[in-house]
Amino acid sequence: FTGKTGSELLTEKLKKYTVQEFQSIPVVVNEDVSVYDAICTMFLEDVGTLFVVNDKALLAGVLSRKDLLRASIGNQDLREIPVHIIMTRMPNVTICYKDDLLLEAGQSLIDRQIDALPVVKEVEHGYEVMGRLTKTNLTKALVELGRDQIM
Ligand code: ADP
Repeated sequence: FTGKTGSELLTEKLKKYTVQEFQSIPVVVNEDVSVYDAICTMFLEDVGTLFVVNDKALLAGVLSRKDLLRASIGNQDLREIPVHIIMTRMPNVTICYKDDLLLEAGQSLIDRQIDALPVVKEVEHGYEVMGRLTKTNLTKALVELGRDQIM
């Protein structure tokens, strides 16, 4: 017997969780698609954050719900505006890696006040998008941990 309390064991487990154990599938659009198409994709794929890639499939930016709402205010034709005009672009995108600790990724979400991080792999000229880590993934980790405790 280790002499550790239940909460010590829980904390220990939480501290070992990595991004890849909880990440979701990323939803990606090309930087040349229109704001209109990005809105459709967001609804159809049922996500709150889209990742934007260039023609080489490298991470170029991020689109949130509010980015798309903001672009929709006014009289512009949303079919004419490419998403690269309105996205948050590299190098200002906060990223994470599959082997990062879940708690570190969660801290980035809090510090930057954002809902999702692209899980990336570094390649020669940029980053490939491998996954999506959201606040929902963190909630799931927390609930799973709590449930283990009960059962
Ligand atoms: P919403 O804007 O719908 O509340 P977020 O809080 O995630 O969603 O996004 C807030 C702003 O931060 C948006 O302008 C968005 O483009 C940007 N953003 C979202 N995710 C990231 C990220 N991983 N790195 C940098 N900026 C991001």
